[in-house]
Amino acid sequence: SRTPVTVTVTGAAGQIGYALLFRVASGQLLGPDTPVRLRLLEITPALSAAEGTAMELDDSAFPLLTGIDITDDPDVAFDGANVALLVGARPRTKGMERGDLLEANGGIFKPQGRAINGHAADDVKVLVVGNPANTNALIAKAAAPDVPAERFTAMTRLDHNRALSQLSKKTGAPVDQISRLTIWGNHSATQYPDVFHAEIAGKSAAEAVDEAWLADEFIPTVAKRGAAIIEARGASSAASAANAAIDHVHTWVNGTKEGDWTSMAVPSDGSYGVPEGLISSFPVTTANGSYEIVQGLDINAFSRARIDASVRELAEEREAVRGLGLI
Ligand code: NDP
Repeated sequence: SRTPVTVTVTGAAGQIGYALLFRVASGQLLGPDTPVRLRLLEITPALSAAEGTAMELDDSAFPLLTGIDITDDPDVAFDGANVALLVGARPRTKGMERGDLLEANGGIFKPQGRAINGHAADDVKVLVVGNPANTNALIAKAAAPDVPAERFTAMTRLDHNRALSQLSKKTGAPVDQISRLTIWGNHSATQYPDVFHAEIAGKSAAEAVDEAWLADEFIPTVAKRGAAIIEARGASSAASAANAAIDHVHTWVNGTKEGDWTSMAVPSDGSYGVPEGLISSFPVTTANGSYEIVQGLDINAFSRARIDASVRELAEEREAVRGLGLI
């Protein structure tokens, strides 16, 4: 049988962790033929809760799950990691300034980046879910100079999936007939879901909807969906975030469909005027475990203004963490 793939999950005792781990252990992340070894990182006070989740994982008797280690030491957690899902983060609490939030997360993602640098497998793939995800990924990347920069990614797949669902509802087309949708920029309220290159059953999606709907309904609904879920559910989205994390890694490992692409926040190579090094969402294709930013798309004025606004926010976050000495 195949050697197990080591998957490290941080914040394992949290809501997203709870929705994520069972799907990783059942084979939905890497496929039905790939055994998985889980390494769970938690802060010390949450270790007992992580033990409880591990007991439930044991009790599921997943044939693909070959072992679970639980630790509060990043060096141990990332030892041999092939896939690292960085979910745990410091949430913004009432009255917290952006600088405080970035500093608190720097205290988490800098040591984790160092631990990845020192201990992860050579082929490690990193997905940051914990917010502010793009900038947390930037901090981890900066702390891991020996790991190729392109291995550090952040999640905009939930935004992508939300956009697919909204467009499907509006047009009546099933989601699997919609392709080439893009989330650009930051995983924040400034993100830009772009339908101008999207197709519905091979025809222009932009022509199926009007610009007023895009500007006044679609974009704000996708961007504010997280808040709407908190309002309705009394808790933040967890299962859909875990689902998107599974989708992100599954697509990275297994490839995008011919003629389609997905959205991932990845280190910019300067494409589309996004300053090099910023971890910004782009349209990407994947094959053989690597990804490429889709090139040559025409960006109209409507899109340009929105991409630029979100990228400006990312540049400001980078300046802020630079000022704090985190990168
Ligand atoms: P969740 O599991 O619900 O969320 C974890 C992170 O994912 C948060 O930063 C959250 O951001 C983010 N996130 C990204 N996208 C989404 C989305 N679409 N919907 C919801 N969340 C999203 O948080 P919990 O508080 O339940 O659990 C966090 C766990 O992490 C705790 O057990 C804590 O102990 C642990 N932790 C572990 C660390 C470590 O391993 N070193 C460090 C820090 C915390 P947002 O806050 O903006 O919703």
